Amino acid sequence: MSNGAKVIVVGAGVAGLTTALELSERGVSVEVIERGSTVGAGCSRMAGGMLAPWCERAATDEAVMRLGAPSIEWWLRHYPGTVRNGSLVVAPPRDTSELTRFAERTENYEWRDADGIAALEPDLAGRFRRALFFPREAHLEPRRALPGLAEALARRGVAIRFGVDKAVDRDGGDFTIDCRGLAARDVLTDLRGVRGEMVMVRSREVSLSRPVRLLHPRIPLYIVPRGEGVFMVGATAIESEATGGVSVRSAVELLNAAYALHPAFGEAEILELGADLRPAFPDNLPAVRRRPNGLLVNGLYRHGFLLAPAMARQAADLVESDNADLRQRRSA
Ligand SMILES: Cc1cc2nc3c(=O)[nH]c(=O)nc-3n(C[C@H](O)[C@H](O)[C@H](O)COP(=O)(O)OP(=O)(O)OC[C@H]3O[C@@H](n4cnc5c(N)ncnc54)[C@H](O)[C@@H]3O)c2cc1C
Repeated sequence: MSNGAKVIVVGAGVAGLTTALELSERGVSVEVIERGSTVGAGCSRMAGGMLAPWCERAATDEAVMRLGAPSIEWWLRHYPGTVRNGSLVVAPPRDTSELTRFAERTENYEWRDADGIAALEPDLAGRFRRALFFPREAHLEPRRALPGLAEALARRGVAIRFGVDKAVDRDGGDFTIDCRGLAARDVLTDLRGVRGEMVMVRSREVSLSRPVRLLHPRIPLYIVPRGEGVFMVGATAIESEATGGVSVRSAVELLNAAYALHPAFGEAEILELGADLRPAFPDNLPAVRRRPNGLLVNGLYRHGFLLAPAMARQAADLVESDNADLRQRRSA
């Protein structure tokens, strides 16, 4: 129970910042503590930033779609850089049956033929015969969205204290919401890391207006446009907690798939190869859990940006109902 006093949010990744903003908007006094020197010092920095609940439904639990769909509105309200332009799913001509299978597992899409693809993405004209278009999906640039949330917090008077490595495993003290991502394994024995790798490239020859997924037989790929010719090509999902840099195999596969989407990516400049561990619970679904004198928000796995607003709402609901209980008992 927060006793109506200040709530401390530990971790300024997407989980911590969305939770702090949600609490502040409900009138709760909040402070954020981050051990790094900037927001998004952890896994959140590597994310593609796709807000794609219906595409994700094709490979994940129904809860991801149900919790993720309302998050798009949350991001549109809180971060003006959120782009709602839909997403496009294509498959090489020999794998178009993959598109049908993908469609069978989800909803809220429209079929597009070659002309329809060219109308949406002129640079893909003539490259694919059929596609699925998900008009209600959105995307954002995580490395801009997180500072955007920090600015929104600053406007509300919420401070972020950087460079503080806070211990959160003790009872007592401030009511604390642990949003430390994988670092919370010291208290969450069922949390694991799932390795994700990505490549950032710059191409002056290809232009895309929305995330494009390629249903590739070996490595399903997505490319997210970041503006100014920059694209994030992602991402592997490997059951490994190895923390080293991107492997040659993964880099080759990601870049090959990008080349299959458009050969002009062969001339693109590699800007960055990045890898991190996604925090995941055994069911790969996020959760808000109670802890002594606080809460935990974790397990965002592949859906940090998609599901953090829903987790933030759940955490804020718990704080609010605890505070209401306390007020009732005090007045009784
Ligand atoms: C390659 C890749 C691609 C991805 N693509 C997408 C995507 O397209 N869409 C999507 O929704 N998700 C995506 N994800 C998943 C997403 O990045 C994660 O789910 C999300 O970032 C987890 O956020 P978090 O806030 O829980 O953890 P983190 O971002 O790791 O944040 C935890 C923060 O806590 C801080 N911290 C830790 N310990 C302490 C301490 N003791 N005191 C103070 N601070 C502390 C850390 O410095 C860090 O800033 C991707 C992930 C990867 C790796």
